[in-house]
Amino acid sequence: MQAIIDLLDQALTDEAPLTIMDGGMIRDGYNVELDELRKIANGGKDFLVEYQIEQQKLTGISTLKIKFNNVFGYFIEVPRSQIEKVPEEYKTKQTLVNAARYITPKLKEYEDKVLGAEEKIKELEYKLFLELREKVMHEIKKIQQTADQVAILDILNSFAEIAHKYRFSRPKLSEEKKLRIKNGRHPVVEKLTDDFVPNDLNMADDQRFILLTGPNMAGKSTYLRQNALIILMAQIGSFVPADSVEMSPVDQIFCRVGASDNLSEGQSTFMVEMQETAYILSNATKNSFIILDEVGRGTSTYDGVSIAWAISEYLHDKTKANTIFATHYHELNDLIKGLDSAENFSMAVIEKTDGVVFLHQIIKGGVDKSYGIEVAKLSGLPKEIVRRAQEILGKLEKEELGKVAQKAEQLGIFGETKIVEKVISKPSLVEEEIKELNVNALTPLDALQKIDEWRRKI
Ligand code: ADP
Repeated sequence: MQAIIDLLDQALTDEAPLTIMDGGMIRDGYNVELDELRKIANGGKDFLVEYQIEQQKLTGISTLKIKFNNVFGYFIEVPRSQIEKVPEEYKTKQTLVNAARYITPKLKEYEDKVLGAEEKIKELEYKLFLELREKVMHEIKKIQQTADQVAILDILNSFAEIAHKYRFSRPKLSEEKKLRIKNGRHPVVEKLTDDFVPNDLNMADDQRFILLTGPNMAGKSTYLRQNALIILMAQIGSFVPADSVEMSPVDQIFCRVGASDNLSEGQSTFMVEMQETAYILSNATKNSFIILDEVGRGTSTYDGVSIAWAISEYLHDKTKANTIFATHYHELNDLIKGLDSAENFSMAVIEKTDGVVFLHQIIKGGVDKSYGIEVAKLSGLPKEIVRRAQEILGKLEKEELGKVAQKAEQLGIFGETKIVEKVISKPSLVEEEIKELNVNALTPLDALQKIDEWRRKI
């Protein structure tokens, strides 16, 4: 490309202007005609300075000035108080309140020459520019090929640099289906925090669906995204933010994450969420990797849990892709009991008297609580509101309990106090009894869930 480089070097100024019609882009020495026109235009500028001094002396008006504007071109401006001294050869161009403007034959001659030259410069520069463009166009293939090669070098160079700087490791690709990430990290979130907690991921045929529970802010989204990113980075040829990775390539990565809605298109958040999920369900294969973050959150709890449940079963039974499903609906923990290749995981949380602490560590097993109010407390919500929320929660739970007791009563099997006694003395027994009792009145899930909640409270 040396010829093109030389040509551009010779033709273009170092700081070419943004517009191509106003001149100033062709370098001096590139074109003889252009150089001459420039001499005229620039040499003329000295003339102006000299002519102003000469006229000041000649007329004795020290405040006389030569000026330019786009409407009148060049003119001599004299303050009103000095008009008397103006010689005859000055022709009036314009009279203002405080000054008068004149033209002289010599100034007019100068104006024609300079303005003419500037006009011609612009035209010529544009013509030269078009010619130059034409010449470069003949080399377009070469330029594009070079740009492509440089882009690849640039990417590889960046990969090498970040791998070195941020302790990335080289992933091992395997033909046999597997996905094992040891101490994986989120490459962006880890930059924003001093104590990022790495986490593992192991997926195999007997564990291809992970249900990840944990309260809001526990680190679920980060975990989902970091795994998808690690796979993506490995497949584009980069080292990855993990101690080690062994994986078989995936055919597609699907994400249903984030809460950004598409209101401008008149669609509700929930609708968008469902459309995106539908797309995943109809396009994913068993070799895909899927992350779903809080799918079903956009509607009421029972709707949401039911939809999430059905989607999970479908992905597990039919699609069979490696999937991580994150949710703060701890109700979904029961889901995996019916699925052979699914596992519950959760983000570890420690409960203290004054609130919760997030460990950002993934652990086997689900959580059975949503910690909503505890998280709200951490967010800086006024104490008064948190206290009131706790109060309302207590009331709602009591009402729910009342309803369960009432149903049990209606069934005529045992009343509220009896349940309490049984629960305290032998919780598992009560569970069994309730299971048997489920006949028509309570749905089994409903009954178990309520009794379970109650039992835990007692
Ligand atoms: P969730 O999806 O459970 O609501 P996020 O993934 O959005 O939680 O994480 C909430 C915040 O917790 C993040 O902004 C980040 O600052 C912090 N965090 C998440 N994961 C980790 C981790 N592994 N180590 C340290 N901090 C983390």
